[in-house]
Amino acid sequence: MSRAALPLALLLPLLLGAAAAAHSAEDAPHSHERGPGRGHWSYKDRQEWVLHYPNCESTMQSPINIDLAKTIFSPQLRPIQLSGYSLPSKERLKLKNNGHTVVLELPESLAITGGYAQQYRAIQLHLHWGSPTGPGSEHTINDHRFPGEIHVVHYNTKYDSFEEAMVRPDGLAVLAAFLQVGPRENPYYRQILEHLYEIQGEDEEVFVPGFNIAGLLPANLDLYFRYNGSLTTPPCYQSVKWTVFNQTVQLSQDQISELVSTLRGDDDSPLQNVFREWQKLHGRHVLASFQAALTLVKQLPTPDSRGSPRRPPLGGAAGARPSLAPRAGGDGSSEAGAEKHTSSFQAGDVLAVLFGVLFAVTAVAFVLYIHKHRSQNARLDAPNKSKVIYTAATTDENAV
Ligand SMILES: [Zn+2]
Repeated sequence: MSRAALPLALLLPLLLGAAAAAHSAEDAPHSHERGPGRGHWSYKDRQEWVLHYPNCESTMQSPINIDLAKTIFSPQLRPIQLSGYSLPSKERLKLKNNGHTVVLELPESLAITGGYAQQYRAIQLHLHWGSPTGPGSEHTINDHRFPGEIHVVHYNTKYDSFEEAMVRPDGLAVLAAFLQVGPRENPYYRQILEHLYEIQGEDEEVFVPGFNIAGLLPANLDLYFRYNGSLTTPPCYQSVKWTVFNQTVQLSQDQISELVSTLRGDDDSPLQNVFREWQKLHGRHVLASFQAALTLVKQLPTPDSRGSPRRPPLGGAAGARPSLAPRAGGDGSSEAGAEKHTSSFQAGDVLAVLFGVLFAVTAVAFVLYIHKHRSQNARLDAPNKSKVIYTAATTDENAV
């Protein structure tokens, strides 16, 4: 063994551990092209929204970046409960390309019955996405942007209509979830995506059969972030109590591609990068229904500036959906188990620790071995200890 072998053996576990813990710094939010203003608002002229919609530069705007370390745990945030979300197939829902996104109109029978101080009924849901080369969620977590995001829009039942509610501070509740690439096709999203080719042009619409709308959201509705914000499109009314779920929803890569590539916008160009960049908090706090601030950053998905996460499927059971952060209390549910399979960082960590331990044990054994023979040789060759240590062949022969 060379002179460098011992230090190397001791260093390797450290190096491996460091490699496992290392992950690239979160990428800056995606930058988008900007263009001249048009007759009505467009994602290509975000800078000009404020000219026609002054709310858009006010101080409680959405979306925002959620900094996990700065979230505040609020035990008062109870699990989100939904009612009426499972629709029979005989019910027909309007699916429309409105030139900004795809919107699925929802019957008023859908409601949020838990997790908010008041009752809210659904009005519509829509999606946000990026492009073939960039992600498109609106909210970001620790500056990480996900491939897409779903918004299920509700209004407070104390108001007679959505239009009346949308200008009130407590008027709207939006449930938001991040869309990620997973190992298999998502059958709920298929109910929407398979009809996109029928509404490729702006203002085209189609009626689709009802299905369980809750399937579009994460299985775990207990863990979420809450803050007060706004509509993320003009007129940017600051009337939304946002719920951003911790658990993400998985679609296949093909489904994400379908979402990103099928629709066209008002100038007949591909409808892409349909998201607003994050807005300043201006002193607002983001609450969490769990101890999100204790979450290690390394448990976030790998940031991917190109937006098409190629993280491999992580072997969770059917229905297992990844989370941004671990459960606060570990309630022993099956989902807690599923979450263990949702991060390649976790698998990498385990391997690194195993290798580290292996190398450490090897190093200790080597040191003991050397020490033993060093002692023997020291008795034979006391004046030059260091020389003895590295004459491996000699010590082997002596040991026989
Ligand atoms: Zn939205």
